[in-house]
Amino acid sequence: MCRTKIIASLGPSSSTLDTILNLCREGVVGFRINFAHGDESVWGPTVDNILKVEGLIGRPLALIGDLRGPSIRLGDLDQQLLLKKGEAAKLVLSDKGSAEKREIPLPVKEVYDKLEVGDTILMSDGRVRLKVTDVFRDHIEVTALTDAVISSRKALVVANKEFNLPLLREKDLADLNFALRHNFNYIGLSYVRRGLDVKIVKDIIRRSGNDKVKIIAKIETRSAVENLDEVIEASDAVLVARGDLGMNFGLEEIPYLQKKIIRKSLELGKPVIVATQLLESMIENPVPTRAEVVDVSTAVSEGVDALMLTGETAVGKYPVEAVRWLRRVIETTEEKLSISKFRDVNGLNVRFAKGVTELAEDINAKLVVFSMFGNTARMIALLRPTVDFYVGTPDIHVARSLVILWGVRVYQVDASDYDEGLEKTYELLKSKDELRLGDLVILAYGLKDYEQAIKLRRVS
Ligand code: PGA
Ligand code: MN
Repeated sequence: MCRTKIIASLGPSSSTLDTILNLCREGVVGFRINFAHGDESVWGPTVDNILKVEGLIGRPLALIGDLRGPSIRLGDLDQQLLLKKGEAAKLVLSDKGSAEKREIPLPVKEVYDKLEVGDTILMSDGRVRLKVTDVFRDHIEVTALTDAVISSRKALVVANKEFNLPLLREKDLADLNFALRHNFNYIGLSYVRRGLDVKIVKDIIRRSGNDKVKIIAKIETRSAVENLDEVIEASDAVLVARGDLGMNFGLEEIPYLQKKIIRKSLELGKPVIVATQLLESMIENPVPTRAEVVDVSTAVSEGVDALMLTGETAVGKYPVEAVRWLRRVIETTEEKLSISKFRDVNGLNVRFAKGVTELAEDINAKLVVFSMFGNTARMIALLRPTVDFYVGTPDIHVARSLVILWGVRVYQVDASDYDEGLEKTYELLKSKDELRLGDLVILAYGLKDYEQAIKLRRVS
């Protein structure tokens, strides 16, 4: 089992029960549905399939739903539009467009007000580039700077321009509502710009009575990078969204931005995920490139909690193979190379977690924690323990949200108090042969200041 976790984005290539099951067998612990694509008639059955698979494999699976946020996306094209370099097309202020007429639907009014002749529009992680040649109130004329394949709902960036779009539009509220009704564990917020963006969404979620749902801030705009500390502090988890990040910055800036975002997240105690183009060539091919496996290995060494596949599993030809390759590279990297960790922590609870972790490492004991809300589990995961780390929790929602964290192996254990929970977790792990005769085990929980417990036991 890898310690660095694997998350898969679902889409047309992967939403059936069979594929979801196979993805889990290869090591996926959480699934992302991007609400920018599809609609409830697709997402509903997909969620049902994930729940069924969770029952079949007998371990919790995390459910992540991404809101479009203040990103700019195309509307629906009747079919893919293929442009050759130098050919002209039109962006039209409409939800729907026609490939035949070369009308690309862009239903975001604010863009038409701010675009100027000479601007460059980027799409599809930068593979598509269009130059603006004329601007009208309800349409824009463009020329393709590259051969381009343009398809529905693609995100679009204008080089060196940010648009002051509303954080959530009506569709986003409806999507959020869908996620909350279906007990999603994380909401991914695209195009976050500042800490306040995260707080606003958090507030809406709290007011709807879903206080356990967590927010992943997707770092992909210039503003998010400028306001990195406050964005990370406001969020429950962070995602290095390299797709859009690489359109909003020069590609050469991605490596240091990725490092910086990962370091900052760990320093501020937040889980961090890296996504996009991890194994991009596997959208078409069954084997990754050398460069891709090195990139994956680098992210693992940098200490990320999880890697998230996007196009590879959502629209690729080899979703299951992509996960298998990701797992192989993760496992080998974890075995052969060191993983960065951050242990310069403050605060009584975190220091307790650190003491427990270091004791377990020092005596080479397995570490078993019982956690009602997941707090102690999160603190220990952040320290990247080198010993086996198990968590019991009574709450399925907590269990599902913990599975994407580094090194955590989660079990749902019914218990109403901490001592009972810890003993039941211990017994369950023995029955599953995770704890074996002679193993040294550290058992611990932490509820609030001065109410922590720690025991050392040899399995007999
Ligand atoms: P997206 O996010 O797939 O929602 O665009 C990932 C990214 O931008 O890298
Ligand atoms: Mn994105």
